[in-house]
Amino acid sequence: MAGASVKVAVRVRPFSARESSRQAKCVIQMQGNTTCITNPKLPKDATKHFTFDYSYWSHTSVSEDPNFASQRRVYQDIGEEMLAHAFEGYNVCILAYGQTGAGKSYTMMGRQEPGQRGIIPQLCEDLFSRVAREGSPELSFSVEVSYLEIYCERVRDLLNPKSRGGLRVREHPLLGPYVQDLSRLAVASFTDIADLMDSGNKARTVAATNMNETSSRSHAVFTIVFSQRRRDPLSDLTTEKVSRISLVDLAGSERADASGAKGIRLKEGANINKSLTTLGKVISALAEAVSLGKPDFIPYRDSVLTWLLKENLGGNSRTAMIAALSPADSNYEETLSTLRYADRTK
Ligand code: ADP
Repeated sequence: MAGASVKVAVRVRPFSARESSRQAKCVIQMQGNTTCITNPKLPKDATKHFTFDYSYWSHTSVSEDPNFASQRRVYQDIGEEMLAHAFEGYNVCILAYGQTGAGKSYTMMGRQEPGQRGIIPQLCEDLFSRVAREGSPELSFSVEVSYLEIYCERVRDLLNPKSRGGLRVREHPLLGPYVQDLSRLAVASFTDIADLMDSGNKARTVAATNMNETSSRSHAVFTIVFSQRRRDPLSDLTTEKVSRISLVDLAGSERADASGAKGIRLKEGANINKSLTTLGKVISALAEAVSLGKPDFIPYRDSVLTWLLKENLGGNSRTAMIAALSPADSNYEETLSTLRYADRTK
Protein backbone atom coordinates (compact mmCIF):
# COMPACT_ATOMS: atom_id res chain seq x y z
CA MET A 1 0.00 0.00 0.00
CA ALA A 2 1.57 3.27 -1.10
CA GLY A 3 1.96 5.91 1.58
CA ALA A 4 -0.06 9.00 0.76
CA SER A 5 3.00 11.15 0.47
CA VAL A 6 5.31 9.19 -1.89
CA LYS A 7 4.76 8.96 -5.63
CA VAL A 8 6.87 6.46 -7.54
CA ALA A 9 7.42 6.49 -11.29
CA VAL A 10 9.71 4.42 -13.50
CA ARG A 11 11.01 5.60 -16.84
CA VAL A 12 12.80 3.51 -19.42
CA ARG A 13 15.18 5.26 -21.82
CA PRO A 14 15.62 4.36 -25.50
CA PHE A 15 18.53 2.18 -26.63
CA SER A 16 21.86 3.98 -26.83
CA ALA A 17 23.63 3.95 -30.23
CA ARG A 18 25.99 1.34 -28.87
CA GLU A 19 23.18 -0.91 -27.66
CA SER A 20 21.39 -0.57 -31.01
CA SER A 21 24.53 -1.41 -32.95
CA ARG A 22 24.96 -4.52 -30.85
CA GLN A 23 21.36 -5.56 -31.46
CA ALA A 24 20.46 -5.30 -27.80
CA LYS A 25 17.12 -6.80 -26.83
CA CYS A 26 14.53 -4.87 -24.85
CA VAL A 27 13.71 -6.61 -21.56
CA ILE A 28 11.11 -4.06 -20.41
CA GLN A 29 7.43 -3.89 -21.30
CA MET A 30 4.85 -1.45 -20.01
CA GLN A 31 1.10 -1.41 -19.91
CA GLY A 32 -0.90 1.12 -17.93
CA ASN A 33 1.03 1.67 -14.72
CA THR A 34 2.54 -1.81 -14.79
CA THR A 35 6.14 -2.50 -15.80
CA CYS A 36 7.31 -6.01 -16.70
CA ILE A 37 10.85 -7.26 -16.96
CA THR A 38 11.86 -10.49 -18.66
CA ASN A 39 15.02 -12.37 -17.84
CA PRO A 40 16.81 -12.64 -21.21
CA LYS A 41 18.27 -15.98 -20.14
CA LEU A 42 14.90 -17.44 -19.13
CA PRO A 43 12.47 -15.62 -21.43
CA LYS A 44 9.65 -18.18 -21.12
CA ASP A 45 8.89 -18.20 -17.44
CA ALA A 46 10.63 -15.39 -15.69
CA THR A 47 8.63 -12.22 -16.37
CA LYS A 48 8.23 -10.12 -13.25
CA HIS A 49 5.50 -7.49 -12.85
CA PHE A 50 5.66 -4.26 -10.84
CA THR A 51 3.03 -1.57 -10.42
CA PHE A 52 3.88 2.09 -9.88
CA ASP A 53 2.06 5.41 -9.98
CA TYR A 54 3.46 5.88 -13.49
CA SER A 55 5.33 3.69 -15.96
CA TYR A 56 6.96 5.82 -18.64
CA TRP A 57 7.98 4.45 -21.98
CA SER A 58 10.33 6.32 -24.30
CA HIS A 59 11.27 4.26 -27.34
CA THR A 60 10.83 6.83 -30.07
CA SER A 61 9.66 4.32 -32.68
CA VAL A 62 6.45 3.83 -30.73
CA SER A 63 5.66 7.40 -29.75
CA GLU A 64 1.96 6.68 -30.20
CA ASP A 65 2.25 4.24 -27.28
CA PRO A 66 -0.01 5.45 -24.43
CA ASN A 67 2.88 5.00 -21.99
CA PHE A 68 5.18 7.20 -24.08
CA ALA A 69 6.32 10.11 -21.92
CA SER A 70 7.91 13.28 -23.22
CA GLN A 71 9.84 15.58 -20.89
CA ARG A 72 6.70 17.73 -20.80
CA ARG A 73 4.48 14.88 -19.69
CA VAL A 74 6.82 13.79 -16.92
CA TYR A 75 6.89 17.38 -15.67
CA GLN A 76 3.12 17.74 -15.89
CA ASP A 77 2.50 14.51 -13.97
CA ILE A 78 5.11 14.98 -11.27
CA GLY A 79 6.67 18.46 -11.28
CA GLU A 80 3.45 20.46 -11.50
CA GLU A 81 1.90 18.68 -8.55
CA MET A 82 5.03 19.18 -6.46
CA LEU A 83 5.17 22.86 -7.33
CA ALA A 84 1.50 23.22 -6.36
CA HIS A 85 2.32 21.68 -2.95
CA ALA A 86 5.19 24.12 -2.52
CA PHE A 87 2.83 27.04 -3.20
CA GLU A 88 0.57 25.60 -0.49
CA GLY A 89 3.53 25.88 1.89
CA TYR A 90 4.79 22.28 2.01
CA ASN A 91 8.34 21.06 1.50
CA VAL A 92 8.73 18.78 -1.50
CA CYS A 93 11.38 16.48 -2.86
CA ILE A 94 11.87 14.86 -6.27
CA LEU A 95 14.55 12.18 -6.53
CA ALA A 96 15.98 10.41 -9.56
CA TYR A 97 17.31 6.93 -8.86
CA GLY A 98 19.01 4.39 -11.13
CA GLN A 99 22.11 2.93 -12.66
CA THR A 100 24.58 5.32 -14.33
CA GLY A 101 23.47 5.96 -17.91
CA ALA A 102 19.84 5.01 -17.26
CA GLY A 103 18.48 8.58 -17.62
CA LYS A 104 18.57 10.32 -14.22
CA SER A 105 20.12 13.58 -15.34
CA TYR A 106 18.10 13.55 -18.57
CA THR A 107 14.98 13.37 -16.39
CA MET A 108 16.11 15.99 -13.86
CA MET A 109 18.12 18.44 -16.01
CA GLY A 110 17.52 17.24 -19.57
CA ARG A 111 19.11 18.91 -22.56
CA GLN A 112 18.96 22.45 -23.94
CA GLU A 113 17.14 21.65 -27.19
CA PRO A 114 13.43 22.51 -27.44
CA GLY A 115 11.24 19.94 -25.71
CA GLN A 116 14.25 18.28 -24.07
CA ARG A 117 14.43 20.22 -20.82
CA GLY A 118 14.06 18.17 -17.67
CA ILE A 119 12.01 18.61 -14.51
CA ILE A 120 14.30 21.17 -12.83
CA PRO A 121 14.31 23.86 -15.55
CA GLN A 122 10.60 23.37 -16.28
CA LEU A 123 9.74 23.65 -12.58
CA CYS A 124 11.88 26.78 -12.14
CA GLU A 125 10.31 28.42 -15.16
CA ASP A 126 6.83 27.58 -13.94
CA LEU A 127 7.65 28.89 -10.48
CA PHE A 128 8.65 32.29 -11.83
CA SER A 129 5.62 32.57 -14.10
CA ARG A 130 3.34 31.85 -11.14
CA VAL A 131 5.24 34.41 -9.07
CA ALA A 132 4.78 37.00 -11.84
CA ARG A 133 1.07 36.18 -12.15
CA GLU A 134 0.22 36.05 -8.47
CA GLY A 135 2.47 38.73 -6.98
CA SER A 136 0.65 41.84 -5.73
CA PRO A 137 1.13 44.65 -3.21
CA GLU A 138 -0.28 42.22 -0.59
CA LEU A 139 1.61 39.12 -1.71
CA SER A 140 5.35 39.07 -2.31
CA PHE A 141 7.70 36.21 -3.04
CA SER A 142 11.38 35.55 -2.64
CA VAL A 143 13.39 32.70 -4.10
CA GLU A 144 16.83 31.47 -3.05
CA VAL A 145 18.77 28.50 -4.33
CA SER A 146 21.59 26.29 -3.15
CA TYR A 147 23.32 23.48 -4.98
CA LEU A 148 25.50 20.90 -3.25
CA GLU A 149 26.95 17.51 -3.86
CA ILE A 150 27.57 14.69 -1.44
CA TYR A 151 30.56 12.52 -2.25
CA CYS A 152 31.72 9.87 0.22
CA GLU A 153 29.52 11.47 2.92
CA ARG A 154 31.23 14.85 2.43
CA VAL A 155 29.33 17.95 1.35
CA ARG A 156 30.62 20.37 -1.27
CA ASP A 157 29.07 23.68 -2.28
CA LEU A 158 28.60 23.73 -6.06
CA LEU A 159 27.80 27.46 -6.07
CA ASN A 160 31.03 28.47 -4.37
CA PRO A 161 34.03 27.85 -6.61
CA LYS A 162 36.31 28.01 -3.56
CA SER A 163 34.51 25.22 -1.72
CA ARG A 164 36.73 22.20 -1.32
CA GLY A 165 34.16 19.97 0.30
CA GLY A 166 33.82 18.80 3.86
CA LEU A 167 31.26 21.41 4.91
CA ARG A 168 29.77 20.78 8.32
CA VAL A 169 26.22 19.54 8.69
CA ARG A 170 24.48 21.01 11.72
CA GLU A 171 21.00 21.07 13.14
CA HIS A 172 18.85 24.09 13.79
CA PRO A 173 16.42 23.53 16.69
CA LEU A 174 13.43 24.68 14.63
CA LEU A 175 14.44 24.45 11.00
CA GLY A 176 16.22 21.09 11.18
CA PRO A 177 19.49 19.95 9.59
CA TYR A 178 21.45 22.40 7.43
CA VAL A 179 24.91 22.82 5.93
CA GLN A 180 27.06 25.43 7.60
CA ASP A 181 28.47 28.08 5.20
CA LEU A 182 26.53 26.77 2.20
CA SER A 183 25.84 29.53 -0.36
CA ARG A 184 22.19 30.44 -0.63
CA LEU A 185 21.76 32.86 -3.49
CA ALA A 186 18.75 35.05 -4.16
CA VAL A 187 17.36 34.74 -7.67
CA ALA A 188 14.87 36.97 -9.43
CA SER A 189 14.24 35.16 -12.68
CA PHE A 190 14.44 31.85 -14.45
CA THR A 191 17.58 33.04 -16.28
CA ASP A 192 19.29 33.68 -12.90
CA ILE A 193 18.55 30.11 -11.84
CA ALA A 194 19.60 28.63 -15.19
CA ASP A 195 22.96 30.46 -14.96
CA LEU A 196 23.58 29.18 -11.42
CA MET A 197 22.61 25.65 -12.40
CA ASP A 198 25.02 25.78 -15.31
CA SER A 199 27.92 26.95 -13.22
CA GLY A 200 27.07 24.38 -10.51
CA ASN A 201 27.00 21.58 -13.07
CA LYS A 202 30.37 22.70 -14.42
CA ALA A 203 31.83 22.82 -10.89
CA ARG A 204 30.54 19.29 -10.37
CA THR A 205 32.25 17.98 -13.49
CA VAL A 206 35.53 19.76 -12.73
CA ALA A 207 35.66 18.42 -9.17
CA ALA A 208 34.90 14.91 -10.39
CA THR A 209 37.63 15.11 -13.03
CA ASN A 210 40.14 16.32 -10.44
CA MET A 211 39.33 13.32 -8.32
CA ASN A 212 39.74 11.15 -11.39
CA GLU A 213 36.11 10.19 -11.17
CA THR A 214 32.78 10.85 -12.80
CA SER A 215 30.01 12.85 -11.20
CA SER A 216 27.88 9.69 -11.26
CA ARG A 217 29.48 8.72 -7.92
CA SER A 218 28.03 11.69 -6.04
CA HIS A 219 24.52 12.84 -5.16
CA ALA A 220 23.60 16.31 -6.47
CA VAL A 221 21.01 18.22 -4.44
CA PHE A 222 19.50 21.38 -5.93
CA THR A 223 17.34 23.24 -3.41
CA ILE A 224 14.95 26.12 -3.94
CA VAL A 225 13.86 27.97 -0.81
CA PHE A 226 10.67 29.73 -1.63
CA SER A 227 9.01 32.31 0.67
CA GLN A 228 5.58 33.88 0.34
CA ARG A 229 4.81 36.96 2.42
CA ARG A 230 1.24 38.07 2.72
CA ARG A 231 0.35 41.42 4.23
CA ASP A 232 -3.11 41.97 5.58
CA PRO A 233 -3.98 45.55 4.46
CA LEU A 234 -6.41 46.03 7.35
CA SER A 235 -4.21 44.97 10.25
CA ASP A 236 -0.91 45.54 8.38
CA LEU A 237 0.27 42.19 9.79
CA THR A 238 2.52 40.06 7.61
CA THR A 239 2.52 36.26 7.56
CA GLU A 240 5.22 34.21 5.90
CA LYS A 241 5.13 30.72 4.40
CA VAL A 242 8.47 29.09 3.55
CA SER A 243 8.78 25.94 1.45
CA ARG A 244 11.81 23.99 0.36
CA ILE A 245 11.90 22.22 -2.97
CA SER A 246 14.75 19.69 -3.17
CA LEU A 247 15.57 18.18 -6.54
CA VAL A 248 18.01 15.32 -6.29
CA ASP A 249 20.05 13.48 -8.91
CA LEU A 250 21.26 10.46 -6.94
CA ALA A 251 24.59 8.69 -7.39
CA GLY A 252 24.48 5.73 -9.78
CA SER A 253 22.95 2.74 -8.02
CA GLU A 254 25.13 0.09 -9.70
CA ARG A 255 26.71 -2.14 -7.14
CA ALA A 256 30.47 -1.79 -6.91
CA ASP A 257 31.86 -5.10 -8.04
CA ALA A 258 33.16 -6.42 -4.74
CA SER A 259 35.89 -8.50 -6.36
CA GLY A 260 37.41 -5.66 -8.41
CA ALA A 261 36.92 -2.63 -6.16
CA LYS A 262 39.77 -1.63 -3.88
CA GLY A 263 40.76 1.37 -1.76
CA ILE A 264 38.88 4.54 -2.58
CA ARG A 265 36.60 2.77 -5.06
CA LEU A 266 35.52 0.26 -2.45
CA LYS A 267 34.92 3.00 0.11
CA GLU A 268 33.02 5.05 -2.46
CA GLY A 269 30.82 2.08 -3.40
CA ALA A 270 30.13 1.30 0.25
CA ASN A 271 29.13 4.92 0.92
CA ILE A 272 26.82 5.06 -2.08
CA ASN A 273 25.19 1.77 -1.18
CA LYS A 274 24.73 2.88 2.39
CA SER A 275 23.12 6.19 1.53
CA LEU A 276 20.83 4.66 -1.11
CA THR A 277 19.83 1.86 1.24
CA THR A 278 19.18 4.36 4.02
CA LEU A 279 17.12 6.51 1.65
CA GLY A 280 15.00 3.47 0.74
CA LYS A 281 14.53 2.64 4.43
CA VAL A 282 13.60 6.21 5.31
CA ILE A 283 11.03 6.46 2.53
CA SER A 284 9.40 3.14 3.33
CA ALA A 285 9.43 3.82 7.07
CA LEU A 286 7.68 7.14 6.36
CA ALA A 287 5.11 5.46 4.10
CA GLU A 288 4.47 2.87 6.78
CA ALA A 289 4.08 5.50 9.47
CA VAL A 290 1.49 7.25 7.27
CA SER A 291 -0.47 4.07 6.53
CA LEU A 292 -0.41 2.92 10.16
CA GLY A 293 -1.25 6.43 11.30
CA LYS A 294 1.46 6.45 13.95
CA PRO A 295 4.97 7.80 14.21
CA ASP A 296 7.77 5.34 13.70
CA PHE A 297 11.54 5.52 14.10
CA ILE A 298 12.96 7.00 10.90
CA PRO A 299 16.73 6.44 10.44
CA TYR A 300 17.48 9.88 8.92
CA ARG A 301 20.80 10.14 10.68
CA ASP A 302 22.27 7.05 9.04
CA SER A 303 23.46 8.99 5.98
CA VAL A 304 24.27 12.62 5.17
CA LEU A 305 21.81 12.53 2.27
CA THR A 306 18.79 11.51 4.36
CA TRP A 307 19.81 13.75 7.23
CA LEU A 308 19.93 16.79 4.95
CA LEU A 309 16.64 15.83 3.32
CA LYS A 310 14.92 15.23 6.66
CA GLU A 311 12.61 18.24 6.37
CA ASN A 312 11.85 17.40 2.74
CA LEU A 313 10.96 13.76 3.26
CA GLY A 314 9.12 13.64 6.58
CA GLY A 315 6.31 15.54 8.26
CA ASN A 316 3.93 17.22 5.88
CA SER A 317 6.24 17.10 2.91
CA ARG A 318 5.60 15.39 -0.42
CA THR A 319 8.08 13.13 -2.16
CA ALA A 320 8.30 11.75 -5.69
CA MET A 321 10.85 9.26 -6.94
CA ILE A 322 11.56 8.53 -10.56
CA ALA A 323 13.56 5.38 -11.17
CA ALA A 324 15.43 5.43 -14.47
CA LEU A 325 15.71 2.11 -16.33
CA SER A 326 17.87 0.84 -19.15
CA PRO A 327 15.90 -1.29 -21.65
CA ALA A 328 18.85 -3.48 -22.66
CA ASP A 329 19.24 -7.18 -21.90
CA SER A 330 22.87 -6.56 -20.91
CA ASN A 331 21.67 -4.44 -17.95
CA TYR A 332 19.02 -6.92 -16.81
CA GLU A 333 20.39 -7.49 -13.28
CA GLU A 334 20.83 -3.77 -12.50
CA THR A 335 17.44 -2.89 -13.98
CA LEU A 336 15.73 -5.59 -11.91
CA SER A 337 17.44 -4.28 -8.80
CA THR A 338 16.26 -0.72 -9.64
CA LEU A 339 12.68 -2.00 -10.06
CA ARG A 340 12.87 -3.79 -6.71
CA TYR A 341 14.22 -0.68 -5.02
CA ALA A 342 11.44 1.46 -6.52
CA ASP A 343 8.90 -1.16 -5.51
CA ARG A 344 10.07 -1.08 -1.89
CA THR A 345 9.78 2.70 -1.67
CA LYS A 346 6.08 2.71 -2.57
P1 ADP B 1 22.38 9.10 -15.88
O1 ADP B 1 22.18 10.50 -15.40
O2 ADP B 1 21.42 8.14 -15.21
O3 ADP B 1 23.78 8.63 -15.79
P2 ADP B 1 21.76 10.21 -18.47
O4 ADP B 1 20.60 11.04 -18.08
O5 ADP B 1 23.04 10.92 -18.70
O6 ADP B 1 21.98 9.03 -17.43
O7 ADP B 1 21.31 9.39 -19.76
C1 ADP B 1 22.22 8.67 -20.58
C2 ADP B 1 21.93 9.00 -22.05
O8 ADP B 1 20.63 8.56 -22.44
C3 ADP B 1 21.99 10.48 -22.34
O9 ADP B 1 22.57 10.65 -23.62
C4 ADP B 1 20.53 10.90 -22.37
O10 ADP B 1 20.31 12.04 -23.17
C5 ADP B 1 19.85 9.66 -22.93
N1 ADP B 1 18.49 9.49 -22.38
C6 ADP B 1 18.20 9.13 -21.12
N2 ADP B 1 16.86 9.03 -20.92
C7 ADP B 1 16.29 9.36 -22.09
C8 ADP B 1 14.92 9.44 -22.54
N3 ADP B 1 13.88 9.19 -21.71
N4 ADP B 1 14.72 9.81 -23.83
C9 ADP B 1 15.75 10.08 -24.65
N5 ADP B 1 17.05 10.01 -24.30
C10 ADP B 1 17.33 9.65 -23.04
